[in-house]
Amino acid sequence: MIVDCHTHLMWYPDHVGQQYAEEALASKLVKLKYSGGQAYSANLDLHVYDSKPEQHWEVSKTADKVVVFGIQAKATGLWVPNEVISDYVKQHPEKLQGWAAVDPTQPDAVEQLEYCVTDLGLKGLKLGPVYQDFDPMDRKYWPIFEVCRKHNLPIMWHQGATFPSRSRLKWGFPMQLEDVAMDFPEVKMIIAHLGHPWEEDMTVLVRKCPNVYTDISAVHYRPWRYWQAMTTAMEYGITHKILLASDFPSATIDNVITGLRNVNKPIEGTGLPQIPKEIQDQIIYENWKPFFPEWT
Ligand SMILES: [Zn+2]
Repeated sequence: MIVDCHTHLMWYPDHVGQQYAEEALASKLVKLKYSGGQAYSANLDLHVYDSKPEQHWEVSKTADKVVVFGIQAKATGLWVPNEVISDYVKQHPEKLQGWAAVDPTQPDAVEQLEYCVTDLGLKGLKLGPVYQDFDPMDRKYWPIFEVCRKHNLPIMWHQGATFPSRSRLKWGFPMQLEDVAMDFPEVKMIIAHLGHPWEEDMTVLVRKCPNVYTDISAVHYRPWRYWQAMTTAMEYGITHKILLASDFPSATIDNVITGLRNVNKPIEGTGLPQIPKEIQDQIIYENWKPFFPEWT
């Protein structure tokens, strides 16, 4: 079974501000230029990162189960109402699992998260400190993680770099999550995008924290960095904690699987270590099992 544990619903201009959309488009053009043709290609305008329900459903064909959420980040101009997620998930409950998104900098974040769980039936939480401009080490956010512990909500962290100019990159260092992981050891967490470009920090954190995982969404279009990250993960013994994910609309699940199958391309004809096919197969078909025991 194939599980895509990281996808978004959002579209311009309803949920995406003008400056964010312009910076996103600029970053997409760079990715396309250096991706070797693997990036998701779409019309290159401010709608390039649109993910409406019909688009999301279409690209999700390859996956058997799909986790979907929005994002709420006042600092960078992103705001997807959680009802958009719960309404969509209700159309395809056999396949989709909806997670909540709240902005920790907003005074009602805890209340909103409770509402998402009890009224909307959402099952996890998406956070992105580099979009929301908050420090995950600040104890004033601990009540949010208390809600996660109470309701057994996993957290998807965009813990890595990103392009918007209006938030701080330093909140995105993977190591900013060590205190949360140690104070809330029972809360499952995913560091998205292999923690790029801090893949080494992500790797050592995932190795030492039993409930911290990572995903390979939207990183294959930087093939050299991707191969290095996967080799590091293999050498430190964390490849069993790498989950399959697309981060649609940044990429599709088909793009990500093709990218993983091509991970050894940059080192073809050299004596450098290969990522074996068995490890690739585990990421595609097996690694979701301890994270989503309800689907086993
Ligand atoms: Zn994401």
